[in-house]
Amino acid sequence: MGEAGCDVRDIEEAANILVNARHAIAFTGAGISTESGIPDFRGPQGLWKQYSPEIATIDYFLQHPKEFWLFYRMRMSTLFTAKPNRAHRALAELESMGVIKAVITQNVDGLHQAAGSKNVIELHGTMRRAVCIACGRAYPMDVVTRKIDSGQVPPLCDECGGVLKPDTVLFGEPVKDFDRARELAMISDAVLVVGSSLTVYPAAYIPLFVKEMGGKVIIINMEPTELDYIADVNIRCKAGDAMEKLLEKIIEMRKQGTTVTQ
Ligand code: NAD
Repeated sequence: MGEAGCDVRDIEEAANILVNARHAIAFTGAGISTESGIPDFRGPQGLWKQYSPEIATIDYFLQHPKEFWLFYRMRMSTLFTAKPNRAHRALAELESMGVIKAVITQNVDGLHQAAGSKNVIELHGTMRRAVCIACGRAYPMDVVTRKIDSGQVPPLCDECGGVLKPDTVLFGEPVKDFDRARELAMISDAVLVVGSSLTVYPAAYIPLFVKEMGGKVIIINMEPTELDYIADVNIRCKAGDAMEKLLEKIIEMRKQGTTVTQ
């Protein structure tokens, strides 16, 4: 599974849904960034094949901040060199065309914004920043990596000496901006899910909310997901290929002004 080309009928059906939607949103997961060289958690090359998910829990961070930061420092080396790929760029283009109104992401890599997406909700925070767990002061991640590389592990706050934590949501912590994301989902009549296993809650409720309100669900993933059964269209191929073809089809449909509704 995985390397097969995208099914043309699935792409057409998805394009048709998006072109005819009044308010469509995207929901993205780690799989949209694997083609940028950032490993996902649960995909075939995922991080959980090498590490235990316990390392990304708030309890582990509080009990073993040094080991946590050594793991995180390794993850950040891919993050800082990663560039947005075709899928991020196509989504940004769909937003600028008015086809997609917002991107709700589980990702912490900042690649949607780097590709030009403007309306982005980061449910799991961002790796581009760290905050002091004692006083809340924020630090850009390059300042934090310099502290680690000069031997300060875990990195500490200049202000109060507290331990710094990435501004990401670890397992066991509440997600950010969930109310805003839920409101957007409730008013949406279509959601384009790209590269999420749809196993991490509450984030995975977003496509369920859209479905519950009578909207359409499109899922792009190389592998089956937990919520394939709610999808109106399952596009089983790589995010870069699928998004590029979807964008081309939508541009073509808009030029012809002929949209097929069902
Ligand atoms: P996940 O790791 O659970 O699932 C990723 C999914 O993407 C899998 O179903 C896999 O089959 C699919 N996939 C991988 N590469 C793909 C490709 N090229 N094209 C299409 N599909 C592809 O990821 P998740 O659902 O986002 O949830 C995991 C958690 O991991 C999230 O909380 C997220 O915050 C975090 N995470 C984020 C990043 C990042 O910011 N880039 C990276 C790793 C993990």
